[in-house]
Amino acid sequence: MRDRIVAIDVGGTRIRVAVGQADGRIIAQKARATQASQGHERVVDRIVETVRDIVDDWSRVQGIGLAAPGTLDVRKGIVFEAPNLPGMIDYPMQARLQSEFPVPAFIGNDANLAALAEHRFGAGRGVDHMVYMTISTGIGGGIIADGKLFLGWRGFAGEVGHQTLEAHGPRCNCGNIGCLEVLAAGPAIARNARAALHAGRESALRSMVDDNLDKLSTAMVTQAAKAGDPLARELFEHAGYYIGLGIVNLVHILDTELFVLGGGVAINAWDLLYPSLLGTLDRHAMPSMRKGVRIVQAQLGDDVGLIGVLAYVADRLKETEPRVS
Ligand SMILES: [Zn+2]
Repeated sequence: MRDRIVAIDVGGTRIRVAVGQADGRIIAQKARATQASQGHERVVDRIVETVRDIVDDWSRVQGIGLAAPGTLDVRKGIVFEAPNLPGMIDYPMQARLQSEFPVPAFIGNDANLAALAEHRFGAGRGVDHMVYMTISTGIGGGIIADGKLFLGWRGFAGEVGHQTLEAHGPRCNCGNIGCLEVLAAGPAIARNARAALHAGRESALRSMVDDNLDKLSTAMVTQAAKAGDPLARELFEHAGYYIGLGIVNLVHILDTELFVLGGGVAINAWDLLYPSLLGTLDRHAMPSMRKGVRIVQAQLGDDVGLIGVLAYVADRLKETEPRVS
């Protein structure tokens, strides 16, 4: 019986592979270092090796799926650009997986698939209009509309972190100016902390890094804010303000009921961000549209990408199943 799905989650530091089921259950998993600096061909070889290590019986596997960061044409199965995987440009990932393994292969954007996972098995269960945002070193996302993952023309939809919030703001990694990501993700919080200390602001952060500002990390700012340091708290309020503005835009455009926030920064600094982003939503959203909108924490933790792939592969296989008339 073919009741197993193989899920691959490729990040900048780790390749994770799981064997699981359409109901989101993970049966076995294995991780390996991505070693992105060795080039994308080597990364793909390592993905293939990791899958071979974990799957011993292909007769039980119905499909395989891969989640990757970056821009992907999910229908043609091509990775256009993956910022954490240097050299992976216009790469025919689906065809490569298809040639290596004896089952149908699919690919998707990691944040999109995380949205699908939270919708089906996590904080978004039973909600038909949901946006998932992951806030860590970057800000990614996925849109659930009418109960389905909204992909857009080529599958690029859901880049909630690259909405322009400051037309004259700092330059983002994506090339645009003043994106939510460059204003509010982890590196922005650390960068703003360094700038404030350079400008002479007093803060416990200064002694935490022995006055060596290069050592300052987002985790340290989080720690200082939790201990009540006024500057550190202000920096999270500032980030929460921009995340709130991003949510206001999405409420106005999509009429979203539920926002599910995941990723290291959102989870570790939830109490620091939440009042600020909620206040921003209250002040900026049209009152009739703001009513009933909820913002909650993600529930699925580290495995969210893998669980998303399980759901996604199950969905795509259903689409291609021959219809019984
Ligand atoms: Zn951007």
